[in-house]
Amino acid sequence: MLEVSGPVMSKALSHFARHFISPTFMREWFPNTKQVATCSIGCDDIPSDTHDGCGFHGLWDISESKRYIHNLFGTSSCIVLVEITGKIKAGSLGARAKEARVIAVIDYDPLPVIFPKAKNYPPENVPTLAKKHFKVPMLTSEDGQDLIVIQNTANGINMIYNGMWYANA
Ligand SMILES: [Zn+2]
Repeated sequence: MLEVSGPVMSKALSHFARHFISPTFMREWFPNTKQVATCSIGCDDIPSDTHDGCGFHGLWDISESKRYIHNLFGTSSCIVLVEITGKIKAGSLGARAKEARVIAVIDYDPLPVIFPKAKNYPPENVPTLAKKHFKVPMLTSEDGQDLIVIQNTANGINMIYNGMWYANA
């Protein structure tokens, strides 16, 4: 069910009108698709070594993605795991990658955390919508974090190193 060989990072996505977009760069994310990053200022080599903006951004620690969502007040957001491939610039908090594919959704709905009184609204929470949209499994935060550690260890990323990988899964 969950076929993954490359490094994995967590990523916040926002739900809007049945579409899932990255909250900062407004890139739409599609199911069963290895997405390839482009750069808004025209870098050829993505993620750039000199421009910190390009590449798909994500965080190693799922709790950091939760914090990011809360800082954005992202009540219609969820956290997905993406397998990253191609050029990867890895840092201590996360990475920027040339290619990424959604492989799982984390069972975490920020809405009742940000708005405790909205516990039962909307009837379908965003992680459930994401699970259906991407056709991927839903994992607990703990299982998701374990997967990140296992995959990144297997791919030689120790998550405190700052450097570059090429993963060609
Ligand atoms: Zn760039």
